[in-house]
Amino acid sequence: MTELSLRSMTKRFGRLTAVEDVTLDIPDGSFVCLLGPSGCGKTTLLRLLAGLEMPTEGQVIVSGEDQTAVPPEKRDFGMVFQSLALFPHLSVADNVAYPLTIRGRSKAEARKRVTELLDLVQLSGLGDRRIHQLSGGQRQRVAIARGLAIDPKVFLLDEPLSALDANLREHMQVELRQLQQRLGVTTIVVTHDQKEALTMADMVIVMNEGRVQQIGSPMEIYRDPANAFVAGFIGTSNLLPCTLDADHNIEVLGHRFDAAEDDRIKSEPGSDLMLSVRPEDVRLEAAGTGLPAKVIFIRDLGESIQYVLDHDGHEITALYAPSARPDIDLGDEVGVSFAPGKRVVFPA
Ligand code: ATP
Repeated sequence: MTELSLRSMTKRFGRLTAVEDVTLDIPDGSFVCLLGPSGCGKTTLLRLLAGLEMPTEGQVIVSGEDQTAVPPEKRDFGMVFQSLALFPHLSVADNVAYPLTIRGRSKAEARKRVTELLDLVQLSGLGDRRIHQLSGGQRQRVAIARGLAIDPKVFLLDEPLSALDANLREHMQVELRQLQQRLGVTTIVVTHDQKEALTMADMVIVMNEGRVQQIGSPMEIYRDPANAFVAGFIGTSNLLPCTLDADHNIEVLGHRFDAAEDDRIKSEPGSDLMLSVRPEDVRLEAAGTGLPAKVIFIRDLGESIQYVLDHDGHEITALYAPSARPDIDLGDEVGVSFAPGKRVVFPA
């Protein structure tokens, strides 16, 4: 079932198009990450969903009904803003109760719900504290509890973890995901951090310059990027100029690689194309096979070993598990090949 849909949504600010012709369906109960570089329109898209912005064109459909003109407070949406927007002069409990208070719920009902919510986000017993008496992670939890207070149909979060240090952030990613799974609430999180998106989401929406570039599971986005932007933005990718013949053989920097059945060819045969291969799908062999290259850098990352190679000014990165470490040293001339079936070709 589709709880939430956008239809041909466009938002212009004067001459700037922040969101352009976005159509998507968000399945009920899913955890969605809106991912893209700074300024690509993620926040604007979230605000359009929440009703905090009116679209220039297009509709928001909730449970089959057009809600485009419905004001934010009349939508059953919970929100957590990047700034958290907590009220410093109110206690933790009053902050969490706020959405209930403004909706006119009784004191007793609000008190009961706040106790449940503080329990849910592991802040039981801290209801009387002021916001400034909390750590960064605790404030984050207060904002999450407040966002969930009305038992929202949809939970929207704008970069909710961006102010936290790396360790706490990773911890909160897992916590937020577990909380969402327990509640089953449809959740949409804006992030510019691809690792965060791949960790948390069932469905990732990759945006660039106001447009949706790809929608898919983290695995689909990683394994089968729709275009060069997605391949370059998600994970690390080797992007090399190539040509493709009618039989889907790929020529890269003067070396021909035979077609393989599972290669993802997203272009007509031609020149001026781009090959994308993940570092773990790059193979290094003795010189004389594959594409000749020189090892210019080796880095032991613990769980893997990274080799950086040079072919005529083109850099290629390979990753090996320590147990599969090839007998290769800095400065060696080697032959590079790309795992058949793991190669993606698209227009440059
Ligand atoms: P970030 O990750 O930096 O927050 P974002 O992907 O969330 O970026 P948006 O905040 O949605 O991007 O902004 C998209 C574009 O729209 C930007 O060019 C921004 O300057 C512009 N923009 C956003 N809000 C307004 C506004 N109220 N008035 C004019 N321009 C705006």
